[in-house]
Amino acid sequence: MRKLSIKTRISLWYTGFMVLLVSMALVIIFLISGRISSKQIEDRLKNVVTDIVTETDFRYGEPDTEGMDFYRDGVSVFIYDTSGRLLAPRINLGVQVDSVLQDRRVRTVSGGVSGDSMVYDVYAVKGDNAFWVRGISSMSEASSAYKILNLLILITFPAFIILSALGGRRITDRAFRPIKEMASTAERISSGDHLSERISVDGSDDELTSLASTLNHMFERLSLSFEKEKQFTSDVSHELRTPLAVIKAECEYALSGKASEKDKEEALLAIYKQSERMGKMTEQLLMLTRADKGSLNMNIERLDLSRLLRELWDDLVPAAESESLSVRSDIEKDIFVSGDELLLLRLMSNLIMNAIKYNRPGGSVEVSLKREGESCVFAVTDTGIGISEKDLPHIWDRFYRAEKSRSSEGAGLGLSMVKSIAELHKGETGAESKPYEGSRFWVLLPCVS
Ligand code: ADP
Repeated sequence: MRKLSIKTRISLWYTGFMVLLVSMALVIIFLISGRISSKQIEDRLKNVVTDIVTETDFRYGEPDTEGMDFYRDGVSVFIYDTSGRLLAPRINLGVQVDSVLQDRRVRTVSGGVSGDSMVYDVYAVKGDNAFWVRGISSMSEASSAYKILNLLILITFPAFIILSALGGRRITDRAFRPIKEMASTAERISSGDHLSERISVDGSDDELTSLASTLNHMFERLSLSFEKEKQFTSDVSHELRTPLAVIKAECEYALSGKASEKDKEEALLAIYKQSERMGKMTEQLLMLTRADKGSLNMNIERLDLSRLLRELWDDLVPAAESESLSVRSDIEKDIFVSGDELLLLRLMSNLIMNAIKYNRPGGSVEVSLKREGESCVFAVTDTGIGISEKDLPHIWDRFYRAEKSRSSEGAGLGLSMVKSIAELHKGETGAESKPYEGSRFWVLLPCVS
């Protein structure tokens, strides 16, 4: 069976609930009003009969009814002698009922000219005279009031239910409208053509607004990662195009028949360099992708970072000196971290190689490793070309290369790798720089004892 919509279920539920509630209220009203009206008739009946008993006097064995009113407050009164003969009123009003006289017992007698009646008899003695006083009150007055009430209820009750069902439906329709809007916006966004569209959020502070904001944040993140992916693919193809074009051109030239042996050798060397560049880039990309996916195999162990840096620095100093750079190191002893040796070597060498690559002739490179509380800080300071304020926030992005450095070798993946490796080791990265003065790159890593 098809499941009913939430709106229909809500409407059905509260309409059913309203029917139940109103029915219960009506039953209670009926019962109470019925009781109240018959109690009122009974009280009136007793009062009138008691008044008549008090007022009745006898003269010469006959009741003195002069000036007495035998019809009061809807009650007809009759006086009988002990054998049941009617003594007063003399004029028969025709509302008497056929019922045996019973002392002080209220009862309902059916039949009679005016339908059901309530009857109350009192036996009384005044001097030598014993007599009965009977009061009769017609109940048709009460029952016709009942009928009117019934009719009113029969008309108003369905009208009330229909109105409340319609009103309720309107309210749920309104309440669900934003959800409908959200669904259709989400539909449009997910189709891919309207990635920048967002669900409109009004100022109200309700659950739907917070849901809409959450969805908008999600769309924002999705469209950002979508954009990033697009950018990434275009960057990769762009980066591969240059070496591939060089390889193709060199091959064409070497095979053209115009190239000498020496030219061919140079062409092969150029091809080798480009393929090496592509290989390095592919390796870096693979590492970054694996780190993103969390599928990078890491060999975590307790490492003497001080020793590792000192050995690496010894290997790289010749490269710095060959660029006529002066070098300095300030490496604190016995700093241990928990991490992957190869990855941490890659992180440190990347930063040191950048400091050499982006330096100026006669400049300097300084490395330091210091303990700072529970962490250690590895820093590389150079006196190189520096990074502009505009470029600084982007240098950690994949394929980002500052304008000034585009002519030098590189694919703009080194720093993203440094950042990714630092994060894999629960560390942080940072950089400060002044154009034409130099830069300082640092990595903060948690230490172990
Ligand atoms: P690559 O060196 O291959 O271009 P990186 O990711 O290592 O890629 O660096 C990104 C960019 O950051 C570089 O292109 C360069 O513009 C800038 N950069 C990195 N290190 C330095 C540095 N020490 N001095 C000046 N600029 C730097």
